Amino acid sequence: MSDRLMRVINFNAGPAALPLPALEQARDELLDFRGTGMSIMEHSHRGKAYEAVHQEASALLGKLLNLPATHQVLFLTGGASTQFALVPLNFLSPGRSADYVLTGGWSEKALDEAKLVGSTRVAASTRLADGRYTRVPSQAEVQLDSSAAYVHTTSNNTLFGTQFHAWLDTGAVPHVCDMSSDFLWRPTDLSRFHLVYAGAQKNLGPSGVVVVVVRRDWLQAARTDIPKIFRYATHAETDSLYNTPPTFAIYLVRNVLQWIDREGGLGAMEARNRAKADALYGALDARSGFYTAPVERGSRSVMNIVFRTPSEALDAKLVAQAEKAGLVGLKGHRLTGGLRASTYNAVSLQDVETLVSFLASFAQANG
Ligand SMILES: *Cc1c(COP(=O)(O)O)cnc(C)c1O
Repeated sequence: MSDRLMRVINFNAGPAALPLPALEQARDELLDFRGTGMSIMEHSHRGKAYEAVHQEASALLGKLLNLPATHQVLFLTGGASTQFALVPLNFLSPGRSADYVLTGGWSEKALDEAKLVGSTRVAASTRLADGRYTRVPSQAEVQLDSSAAYVHTTSNNTLFGTQFHAWLDTGAVPHVCDMSSDFLWRPTDLSRFHLVYAGAQKNLGPSGVVVVVVRRDWLQAARTDIPKIFRYATHAETDSLYNTPPTFAIYLVRNVLQWIDREGGLGAMEARNRAKADALYGALDARSGFYTAPVERGSRSVMNIVFRTPSEALDAKLVAQAEKAGLVGLKGHRLTGGLRASTYNAVSLQDVETLVSFLASFAQANG
């Protein structure tokens, strides 16, 4: 079997590459989870076997992030898009206003949902006239409303390949952050945030589960006149077991977290991710007559590297040739066009080096 296993190098933006050991563990345990005679999917979410997995996933996240007791981990469904609505439903009370920092397509969507719930303000936007974003704003460009219910930011912009490398100072205003595409890329002090959310399918696991890290005392300030299922407090009080959670997705997240832990934790992830991004941006910059990387240097994402060749025809040719060479997922987002390599935790430095030599040969042959 194993000699026939053909794994490609996967640069998909999401769902994205998962660490092979996490998948192998799932394969080995699929039919019989630890001698119980059934898969983890077939266990009751209230039974001992699943409960241990659930608690371990939560505890590992706490350990890797060095999470203070002030904050709680939740595993929810509905993806990051549902949090776009749940955040204002819970925290944007009548008479209040929320600030949004626009840095890409996902933050625009988050704002659109909040507008349906209450009053909002754009505290900063780096949107260009043509709709693209090529940088994140500096602190000085952000005009915060000191009485806002919260400020919403997006740490990494998956579509346009920009990323905050320093956190905005939001003063006394609660900071809410969508970290879907760079969660766990490096050690991160989450205690400065009131709420962080991340859909798993980028850097954390399969689709179907979204992780929320919320400050416990903020939950007291949340609205209670909304359906129970939409209240963060409901899920916090029940340890994310109010209703049936996505058990298999959480199990896979647990496997990925164990892998990160074995690899040396978030410090090791950061060193690897920086080396990967340096190698890739270095290769693009070295051939700047052929490849264009549109994002300003100070805002370049370590997770989603966006670039293009001199023409759309060459972009398409590159994607097709790369696929033949076992390098998949390099086509840019449908809104932005061009090319994008997503180099999440599960993509190795060796994978990126393979891409770097492919890009060098392609430029040589077509430049
Ligand atoms: C992918 C993504 C989303 C949307 O996630 P869904 O799980 O599809 O709802 C939101 N925000 C960011 C930053 C993303 O990368």
